[in-house]
Amino acid sequence: MKKRLPLLFVFIFGFVFSMPALARAAKVTPASAITIAVDIGHNAAYDSGKVGVKGITEDWCTKTVGNLVKAKLKALGYQVVDCSPVNPTSERNSLQQRTNKANASGADYLISIHFNASKYGSGYGTEVYYAGDSGKKLASSVQSQITALGYADRGIKYKDTYYLLRNSVMPAILIECAFVDSASDMKRFNAESMASAICRGINSQLNPSSDKPVLRRGSTDHSAVSYLQSLLGVDSDGIFGPRTENAVINFQKRLGIMVDGVAGQQTWRNLLK
Ligand SMILES: [Zn+2]
Repeated sequence: MKKRLPLLFVFIFGFVFSMPALARAAKVTPASAITIAVDIGHNAAYDSGKVGVKGITEDWCTKTVGNLVKAKLKALGYQVVDCSPVNPTSERNSLQQRTNKANASGADYLISIHFNASKYGSGYGTEVYYAGDSGKKLASSVQSQITALGYADRGIKYKDTYYLLRNSVMPAILIECAFVDSASDMKRFNAESMASAICRGINSQLNPSSDKPVLRRGSTDHSAVSYLQSLLGVDSDGIFGPRTENAVINFQKRLGIMVDGVAGQQTWRNLLK
């Protein structure tokens, strides 16, 4: 009995002290209470991006993807802050303005969108930079969603020498979506699917309670597909074929949300409203 006593204390104290943690875990912050600062890389004086294959510019890519990311995050319920600089006087000033805007806004997270280029045009794939622990989780989540589109996985990377990552007060990530000077990356590149992947990565990390599996044609999660079909009002056979895809497309058109035939977070959210 004597020997068991300390163990009992450990158990009781462990239980009591873990209760607040359990309560915290059960409480999920709604998207509307989370502010995300979105930095669209470059697109400013003294701060233009790289130039890639067939005249594709990083400026165009970041602007197109960045604007879609902002719209999609808003559609998911997040508060979104724009970080665009105004008439910067140097590249450093451009970065300062972006970071200052994010910091002054009190945003909870900062997402910077970039595209890559390599010295000899031989690089390809996706990498996400971060500078802190919360940023690391977010970087990992975004990285896995983008690489699921087929881009090569260059991994997530710690980098505290980037101005934006070093000087922002909130967890921040810098996404190098793909290489503008890689023919294969640019062949694969689609701004809609890139923006959706970024938003899925953000949403599944920040708002896990709303996270549902992303289902598309050929998905083999039969119980989830059946559930989706029941919400869409089609026969629930658990098979995501053309019939279910059409039902998703029609639903997305009706709601005026992104039409891609894929049941991602935005589609789920609207289905479950
Ligand atoms: Zn860049």
